[in-house]
Amino acid sequence: MENCLFCKIIKGEIPSAKVYEDDEMLIFKDIAPQAKIHYLLILKEHFANIVEMTDEQAVTLARCLKKLSGMVDELGLQGGFRLVSNKGADACQSVEHLHIHILGGEKLSEKMA
Ligand code: AMP
Repeated sequence: MENCLFCKIIKGEIPSAKVYEDDEMLIFKDIAPQAKIHYLLILKEHFANIVEMTDEQAVTLARCLKKLSGMVDELGLQGGFRLVSNKGADACQSVEHLHIHILGGEKLSEKMA
C-alpha cells in the first residue's frame, strides 16, 4: 500500500529500530513506548486490521505469534508480556496496517483500558 507508514518501514523507506525480521514479519521498537519494552509485530502483507484479515493471513499471523513465543528470552520478555491489537476508532487505531503491540520488561498495569 502506497501511503501506509508500516509498509514504508517494511520497504526501508522509513527507518525503524528492527529487532527481528524474516520473510513474513517484522518486529521493531515503537517510537513512543508505553512500557519499558514496547515492540510492534507486523506482517509484511498489508491488511488493515483483524477484521479485514483473510483465513490465509490468520494462519500467517498464528505462525508469527508462535515464532514470537520462541523469542521471549532474546526480546527481554522473560517476566511476561502483553499483546494488544487495536482495531478502529474506539480502540484508537492510528495506523491502518495490522500490528500487534508487545508490551513488557516491567510490571504492567492491571488495567487494560
Ligand atoms: P495504534 O495506535 O494501535 O495504531 O499503534 C500505532 C503505533 O505505531 C503507536 O504506538 C505509535 O507510537 C507507533 N508508531 C507510529 N509511527 C512509528 C514509527 N515511525 N516507528 C515506530 N513506531 C511508530
